Amino acid sequence: MAFLGPPGAGKGTQARELAREWDVPQIATGDMLRAAVAAQTPLGGEARRYMDAGALVPDDVIVRLVRARLAEADAARGFILDGFPRTIAQAEALDRMLKDLGLALDAVVHIDVGEPELLRRLTGRRLCRGCQTPYHVVSAPPRRPGVCDKCQGELYQREDDTEAAVRTRLDVYRRQTAPLLEYYRSRGVLTRVDGEGSIEGIRGAVRAAVAPR
Ligand code: AMP
Repeated sequence: MAFLGPPGAGKGTQARELAREWDVPQIATGDMLRAAVAAQTPLGGEARRYMDAGALVPDDVIVRLVRARLAEADAARGFILDGFPRTIAQAEALDRMLKDLGLALDAVVHIDVGEPELLRRLTGRRLCRGCQTPYHVVSAPPRRPGVCDKCQGELYQREDDTEAAVRTRLDVYRRQTAPLLEYYRSRGVLTRVDGEGSIEGIRGAVRAAVAPR
């Protein structure tokens, strides 16, 4: 399955939990790219300038990354895509990859959140450098400022969570990613979930959306 939605909708949170529950990998292209940047690989070097500006990394780079990831053994039983596909070209490439593997998407869940709420969430977001657990400076602060409750790792603000980069990312979503909603709706696999309630409520709605599939 895949999660679709704007940056800050909560795709990562829901994908991580569901992946653990189903014992399948969460394939989060943003996390993979940030790991490549941190490890200073050639991919990281190429991706960084796009990421810091809030722009999309070129389709061919992302498609190669995902193709290699889907070929790994742990993806054979299924997987949860988080942050991919993000353009029509990526969705078409995914269709071809899945066809080659004899697979198909069972469900695409659209987590729908309005822009004022996305801005609030993203500019206040802090992440753990160790385990990637997300916090929010106002609505979900850690017990000790700057320190992860779970692993005591250091919390940081993503380069692209500044207000200017967030506005660019929302604009990129509107122009390049939102057309995927129609792409998957017309294929009969899309379900919308209201992403503005509590994490608990959204968790329940996501489960209800994927259960019939
Ligand atoms: P995310 O963590 O999903 O918000 O992704 C962070 C950044 O990584 C994005 O703003 C893009 O620069 C890049 N990125 C992640 N996934 C993709 C993708 N599927 N296509 C293009 N760029 C991506």
